[in-house]
Amino acid sequence: MAARVTRRDFLNGVAIGAGGILLQGCGGDIDASTKIPLGAPTKFTPPDPADYYPPTLTGMRGSHDGSFEVAHDLAWRGQKPAQYQALDEHYDLVVVGAGMSGLAAAFFYRKKMGPDARILILDNHDDFGGHAKRNEFHQDGRMMLSLGGAQNLESPSSYSEVAGGLMNDIGIDDVFVAAMAVNTPDNMALAGKLDADNGVSLPGPDGHVTISGNWNAAMYGGEGYEKTVRALPISSNEQDILIDYFGGKRDFLDGLSLSEKWDYVNSVSYNRFLLERVGLDENTLPIMNAIIIHLSGFSGWNLTVLEAIGNGASGIKAMGWLGKAAAKVGGVFLESLVEVRMFPDGNASVARLLVQKLIPDVAPDMKGPEDVAVARFDYSALDRDNQGTRLRLNSTVVGVREVDGEHLEVDYVQHGKALRVTAEHSVLACYNNLIPHLCPEMSEPQKEGLSYGVKTPFVYANIQLDNGRAYSKLNATLFQCPYDPFQWVSMAPNLTIGGYEPPRGPDDPMVVFMMHSPMNQTTSQDGSGRDQLRMGRHVIYSTPFASYEQQIREQLQSMLGEHGFDHERDIRAITVNRIPHGYAYPYLALDDPKWEEGQAPHEIGRAQFGRISIANTDSEAIALMDAAFDAAWRAVQEQT
Ligand SMILES: Cc1cc2nc3c(=O)[nH]c(=O)nc-3n(C[C@H](O)[C@H](O)[C@H](O)COP(=O)(O)OP(=O)(O)OC[C@H]3O[C@@H](n4cnc5c(N)ncnc54)[C@H](O)[C@@H]3O)c2cc1C
Repeated sequence: MAARVTRRDFLNGVAIGAGGILLQGCGGDIDASTKIPLGAPTKFTPPDPADYYPPTLTGMRGSHDGSFEVAHDLAWRGQKPAQYQALDEHYDLVVVGAGMSGLAAAFFYRKKMGPDARILILDNHDDFGGHAKRNEFHQDGRMMLSLGGAQNLESPSSYSEVAGGLMNDIGIDDVFVAAMAVNTPDNMALAGKLDADNGVSLPGPDGHVTISGNWNAAMYGGEGYEKTVRALPISSNEQDILIDYFGGKRDFLDGLSLSEKWDYVNSVSYNRFLLERVGLDENTLPIMNAIIIHLSGFSGWNLTVLEAIGNGASGIKAMGWLGKAAAKVGGVFLESLVEVRMFPDGNASVARLLVQKLIPDVAPDMKGPEDVAVARFDYSALDRDNQGTRLRLNSTVVGVREVDGEHLEVDYVQHGKALRVTAEHSVLACYNNLIPHLCPEMSEPQKEGLSYGVKTPFVYANIQLDNGRAYSKLNATLFQCPYDPFQWVSMAPNLTIGGYEPPRGPDDPMVVFMMHSPMNQTTSQDGSGRDQLRMGRHVIYSTPFASYEQQIREQLQSMLGEHGFDHERDIRAITVNRIPHGYAYPYLALDDPKWEEGQAPHEIGRAQFGRISIANTDSEAIALMDAAFDAAWRAVQEQT
């Protein structure tokens, strides 16, 4: 994600740089009576092939109805069909999961084995891309795009040779990446423009108090930060502390030796530091957490001070002169490394490029990255029997097993039908946690390794507005809303990339992009980060579309009402992308031991299992697209 200042680079460069220097030297309840329904959310119904086009569906998307029930029956209750209809289909490779890793696995396999290789990709959703999903809206002849999940390419120059090679193969080479930079407007904070205005919006007595300017810079003591903090509707005592903290006016680790400081930042949670050493009130924590819950998926209770700072939290200046030196180094690092690049529909464009390379008939006239954003895909071409690669949607795999050492049987359920295909090899590019249920014959240590991590839950919503007049009066494209259910609110990417022409003026229709994390921010809770993730996942599974709709309407009305916005009149459509199984688990210093090389759960879990190999970002414990590609490469190498 964009303002995610390239998580890996930030961590490797800034935090470790900072650490190195330090080391050297040292949601509210819904009132049903006020609810205004938008209409029933779109539910999945078996498609009419002629008009099957999932990107335009609204209502509850992401983990949509019909996509998860079969897998939950298997994982939660150990239930799956007893009988399967054997299809007359035998493949060289069956890939489970049509996310970036599964698509890349098919791509690498085909590249290595040639175009005659018979490949089947199965996915439980009604659209491909996994986390990288496209949301598409239409109004008055204009198409508007937004992110249904994974946002940006992060830092292509740091990709491995194989991941970079795949990007080149689909046309995203250095020249194109440079063109993406040029075509990203300077006001697009979501697309990593560090100098773009981005604001903060807090509930006040008469609707939200919205402060534009550069809030991210203010949090690091940038120009005008004192004025910005004084404008926040919080007590003057909290403002005083924030001014000292953002500006680095005091050393909040005063009294500790350099090595004690190092131990402290590596062993104490960020929120505890804020409460106990900085002296902030518990109620101010969300202001400090809003950035990290989106960049990392965790609140400041789950991250050490150093991990939080590595994920974008402010405070490095407030740890004495060494912190200030580190901040300077970090700033230089940031300037040189931040090269977040984004398509208007996020990494969905990368998924589309891969799918079109594998199955050209889906968009025969598409040239490549230069028109991928506007190409209309023909989903009926995904699963034809006369082509080498087939992509079969709405198909949940429930078993993959070797038969007599000769081939594999792959069992799946599609629209209630239990079906079986056979294959020479399989790459499981689905979630690690599910794999022990698909392959119960695996060893217990491998199953334990696969079951260890928990993915981070998120909700990404897109709201189609009749026009952008009220939003334009906020004077920035992106806002952090620490006290709202949706903690980030942004204009959808207004990039002219991939042939896309975004809305240009306030009178045009627009799409607002809103991000929600269910992670608890204020009070410390018992249990590990993984427990907190499970609780967050439960929250979003048990929250119906109507509740999200209500939250969205209330939040937007409160933010935009003073500028003439009327949610009943101005909201045209709402798409809620529910993402219960989000970022791969990265291990936390507060919870996890330092594993010996090769002994981390994901490393034990991803071991080749005969004709079956494991890809996906869980297997790398890194929630980035290039990690998905690296995992796919490893899995294909194992099987070829
Ligand atoms: C909200 C969000 C934002 C992100 N933003 C970025 C970003 O900006 N940049 C970046 O580099 N990375 C980002 N990521 C990380 C992202 O996870 C990776 O980049 C990548 O998209 C993950 O791909 P994957 O194939 O490993 O997993 P997934 O995308 O999860 O794909 C796995 C697929 O397998 C399917 N599946 C699971 N079980 C079965 C089954 N039994 N049968 C059939 N199919 C099954 C799943 O439903 C899914 O479709 C983001 C992630 C999230 C959640």
